[in-house]
Amino acid sequence: MIKVKSSAELEIMRENAKILGRILDKVADKVQPGITTGALDKYAEELIHEAEGKPAFKNYRGFPSSLCTSLNEEIVHGIPGDRELKDGDLISLDIGIEKKGLFADFATTVPIGEVPEDDMNMVSVTDQALSKGIKKVVPGNRIGDISHAIGTFVREKGYYVVKEFVGHGIGRDMHEDPQIPNYGDPDTGERIKEGMVFCIEPMVKFDKNKVKVLDDGWTTVTAGRDPSAHFEGMVAATEDGPEVLVRGGL
Ligand code: MG
Repeated sequence: MIKVKSSAELEIMRENAKILGRILDKVADKVQPGITTGALDKYAEELIHEAEGKPAFKNYRGFPSSLCTSLNEEIVHGIPGDRELKDGDLISLDIGIEKKGLFADFATTVPIGEVPEDDMNMVSVTDQALSKGIKKVVPGNRIGDISHAIGTFVREKGYYVVKEFVGHGIGRDMHEDPQIPNYGDPDTGERIKEGMVFCIEPMVKFDKNKVKVLDDGWTTVTAGRDPSAHFEGMVAATEDGPEVLVRGGL
């Protein structure tokens, strides 16, 4: 069942999302060749604590960090560590906070230095795909409309969405109903109502093969180890249409 948020809950989620947006901006500013993914995580965790929030990812089903750092062939759920960023890399930064009993969660992909044009095109398509999905967060539409908008756009541009992972509802839990796949049929799934909040997160790659989860149980990589991109936005359905609480973007 998809939970509808009260206006008081929505107000807190709005504030949390704003705080998280500022935090990820600061973390993204540190992204440069030579810094390790572990240092980014440490900084993100400090900022979350400074904001008097709790890192939502840390210890979530055993995840060890406050930030997911997914580099190049890593799509999502990359575990921060000693790996150093270098010119030409793509890094997806995914972050979550819990504050006042409510969650915020979003992600962005940051290109580092001179990224090959093919890779940048894919990143740009992923960013645009998120916008396509967000536009469908309108009361009266259905969840499949979001999925379909993302999936068809990405295919038209010649790329493939990740099918194994999905977007989700968010509120008093980080992952609430519904699941929001990045592909699907229009006019299917549950009806969107005012006060629902969704995390929409297109994950895009060059090939249609299944993704692989590494032995750490988290890090998800592309089959051919080609680069991938991931953007996530948190969006409320309102009577005036989609309200973006926070989103990643180029
Ligand atoms: Mg998410």
